[in-house]
Amino acid sequence: MYSDLFSQLDAGRLRHLITLEGLPHERIAALLDRADALRTASRGGTRTLDLLGGRTVINLFFEPSTRTRTSFDLAAQRLGAHVINFDIASSSASKGESLLDTVHTLEAMHCDAFVVRHKESGTPQFIAQHLRSGAAVLNAGDGNHAHPTQGLLDALTLRRQRPDTGALRVTICGDIRHSRVARSDVHALHALGVRDIRLCAPEQLLPEAGEFPDCGIFHNFDEAIDGADVVIMLRLQKERMQAAAIPSEAEYFARYGLSSERLKRARSDCLVMHPGPINRGVEIATDVADGPQSLILKQVANGVFVRMAVLAELLGADKAATMRA
Ligand code: ASP
Repeated sequence: MYSDLFSQLDAGRLRHLITLEGLPHERIAALLDRADALRTASRGGTRTLDLLGGRTVINLFFEPSTRTRTSFDLAAQRLGAHVINFDIASSSASKGESLLDTVHTLEAMHCDAFVVRHKESGTPQFIAQHLRSGAAVLNAGDGNHAHPTQGLLDALTLRRQRPDTGALRVTICGDIRHSRVARSDVHALHALGVRDIRLCAPEQLLPEAGEFPDCGIFHNFDEAIDGADVVIMLRLQKERMQAAAIPSEAEYFARYGLSSERLKRARSDCLVMHPGPINRGVEIATDVADGPQSLILKQVANGVFVRMAVLAELLGADKAATMRA
């Protein structure tokens, strides 16, 4: 579904957000700055802004979602836009209507942005290439390819806690092979100037050789977490596995789970992140997920401001108005 001719940038303007790959680092930093400005302007989300009054955003989620869909919905509403949460199950997609016919039908009613999640990598780009209007496409997670707003919200969360990002050691552990979050996080971490990124997984859940040339690859979590400033845990993406890739969840937890005992190998102030949904006792212990080093709910809160920033940017909301609001 990919085309090399596709670009999410048009004469320097961000038209769609499909991936963080290839986006200039200053652009990523500017989106994070805008998210911070919107947090202040909206008083932490308690005040609605009118930056997107009269605009319409359609959430098209072909895969389940709790955090991403709700926060895109809230983000659009907090900027004053109308939001339609398109219900796939009760739509004509279930009568065999094709993806593009569905999109063109919704476009005919006029909308400014489609927020798309799909199990097939490349679907948001495919839609962006076939739109007939000037609507923007925001990738809310496609297969194992990308989850750009998760990458941005993780970067924002990290930058707020540890502004000196260049000096950090970040360990990402879990099902790297099937994780769109890992891919977007690596691009976001590079944009923050993080040089020491360690990816850790059992052999069968590691990425293809050479996919992450600038990251250290580890099989042993005790080694990978040694001296880490940040550890990002990932869920086993069973829905993307061909066959059971791990012998048992208990065995997986023993070798790759984040317990409080194992966390002691990291720096004493190591931050713990996870994009959610978490599977307690599989990749992370309950006392760590709910403990003082966990940023999991801060990530969720930051997701709304990042999505506000991306919507405002793609829909051309006046930047100065963000500051004045
Ligand atoms: N919520 C994230 C995603 O949609 C992570 C996960 O599902 O494990 O990719």
